[in-house]
Amino acid sequence: MARGPRTPGGSPPRILIIGGGYVGLNTAMRLQRRLRPGEAEITVLDSDSYMTYQPFLPEAAAGSLEPRHVVVPLRRVLSRCRILNGWVVRVDSARRSVEFRPAGGESYEIGYDILVVSPGSVSRILPIPGLAENGIGFKTVEEAIHLRNHVLGQLDLAASTRRADVRRRALTFVFVGAGFAGVEALAELEDMAGYACRYYPGISRADMRWVLVEATGRILPEVGEEMGRWTLEQLRARGIDVRLDTRVDTAEHGDIVLSDGGRFPSGTLVWTAGVRPHPLMRATDLPVDDKDRLKVTPRLNVEGRNDVFSAGDCAAVPDLTRPGEYCAPNAQHAVRQARRLAGNIIATLRGTPLADYRHAYAGSVASLGLHKGVAQIYGHKLHGPLAWFVHRSYHLSRVPTVNKKVRVLSDWTLALFFRREIVSFGAMSRPRAEFEFAARSTVHAGRLNGDLPPT
Ligand SMILES: Cc1cc2nc3c(=O)[nH]c(=O)nc-3n(C[C@H](O)[C@H](O)[C@H](O)COP(=O)(O)OP(=O)(O)OC[C@H]3O[C@@H](n4cnc5c(N)ncnc54)[C@H](O)[C@@H]3O)c2cc1C
Repeated sequence: MARGPRTPGGSPPRILIIGGGYVGLNTAMRLQRRLRPGEAEITVLDSDSYMTYQPFLPEAAAGSLEPRHVVVPLRRVLSRCRILNGWVVRVDSARRSVEFRPAGGESYEIGYDILVVSPGSVSRILPIPGLAENGIGFKTVEEAIHLRNHVLGQLDLAASTRRADVRRRALTFVFVGAGFAGVEALAELEDMAGYACRYYPGISRADMRWVLVEATGRILPEVGEEMGRWTLEQLRARGIDVRLDTRVDTAEHGDIVLSDGGRFPSGTLVWTAGVRPHPLMRATDLPVDDKDRLKVTPRLNVEGRNDVFSAGDCAAVPDLTRPGEYCAPNAQHAVRQARRLAGNIIATLRGTPLADYRHAYAGSVASLGLHKGVAQIYGHKLHGPLAWFVHRSYHLSRVPTVNKKVRVLSDWTLALFFRREIVSFGAMSRPRAEFEFAARSTVHAGRLNGDLPPT
C-alpha cells in the first residue's frame, strides 16, 4: 500500500483514475491543486478527451447552448496530470494493474499504487425487439447533437414528402423513461421543434406527436411527488402524450407497440429509461453488489481494498444521512464524493485519518424548455420561469472552469437578442457521403439514377 510520499523504489506514488467525468475530473483537479510538487503522479484514462457536463445536454440538443460549451477539455484543465485516451477493459487489483486499450492501438497494462474507479454508467437497455436497432440514448454530447439534427431533419422530411405515412412517421417522436434525462430532453426538443414550425408553412405544432412512455405511475421523481404531478399537467397541457404505467413492447422497423394497446410508427425512439453501472465493473476482481455497483465504504474506498477508491454512478456509496440506503446516481453526489475522495487519497498518501462521505440531498432542478422549469430545493417547491432561472443559475455555478461559465453565459445572452438557429446538419454523421458521391458520379459520368448522396 502506498503510504508516505515515496514508493519503496523511490519514485512518487502513481495515482490512476479511470474515467474523466464528474468524479474523475473533479478528483484529479483537486489532487493537482492540493498535492505538493512530486508528491504523486496522476494519470487519467478516458475514452474521450473531454468531460461532459450532462445536465446541459438537453439545452445543447435544443440549440440553446453550443455543444462545445458543455464539454471541458481534460488536457486544458488537468495540466499537471497525464491524460491517456482509450478504454480500460480490465482491472486486476491483486496485481495493481489495469488493461488499457488506446483507440486504434494494442492493449497494454498500466500499474498503479492508488486506483480510482469512476467510469460512471451506461443506459439500461431492455431486451425489447427492435430497440437496439432503432433506439438512441441521451447520455453523450454526440447523441444530443445527433438528436437535434435528427428532429430538424424529420421536419425537413415531413415538409418535403408527398406521402402521408412518411410524414406521420417523421412527425412522431417517442421518448421512453420519465426521469431527468427523458423529461428534460423531450421538453427541450419539443419546445425547439415547436418554435421551428414557424419556418415550415405546412407543419403546425398540432401536426407533431410527442409521446413520453413511463413504466411507473409518476414522472420526474427527482423533484418530488407534487412537482412531478405539476410537470405532468404542464407537459399534457402542451399536447405531449404522456403514458404512465406503460411499457414499450416492441419497436421493430420503427413501429412502436405499447403495453396499453397503443401502436404507431415513429421515426424517433429515444431511450432514457435509467442507467446501470458501467460494464467494466464485471471485468474486475473487485467486490460488486447485486446491481453490479462497486461496494464501497463511507470513506469511498472499495471494501477490503485500501488502495482502490470509487464513487459516482458505478459505486454503491452508503448514504449516511439515510441509514440503510445508498446515494442516488446523480451529479450532485458525484461532485461532492469526488472532493471527499481526493481528500481521502491525500490522507492515504500522508498517513493521516480518512473521513466519511456525508451529504444530504439538496433537491433537484429541471428545465422544461425556454423559460419553463421545475424545482424542489431544500423542500422549497418552484415552477415556471423562476424555477427555470434557478436551474440555469445553479448549473452555471456548477459547470467546471471560468472559461466554460463565460461561454455558457454568452450563449444564453446572445439567445436573448437573436432568433434560435434551426438548421439541421444531418450529414454530420456521414461526412464522406458527398465525396463518395462525387467519386461514383465521376466513374458513371452523366448517370445519376439512384446514385444520389444520402441525405
Ligand atoms: C441528460 C442527463 C441529464 C442529467 N441531469 C442531471 C442533473 O440535472 N442533476 C444531477 O444531479 N444529475 C444529472 N445527471 C446525472 C449525472 O450526469 C451523473 O450522475 C454523473 O455524470 C455521474 O458522474 P460519474 O463520474 O460517475 O460518471 P460520468 O460523468 O458519466 O463519467 C464517466 C467517465 O468515464 C469514461 N469512461 C467510461 N468507460 C470508460 C472506460 N472503460 N475506460 C475509460 N474511461 C471510461 C466516460 O467517457 C466518462 O467520461 C444527468 C445525466 C444525464 C445523462
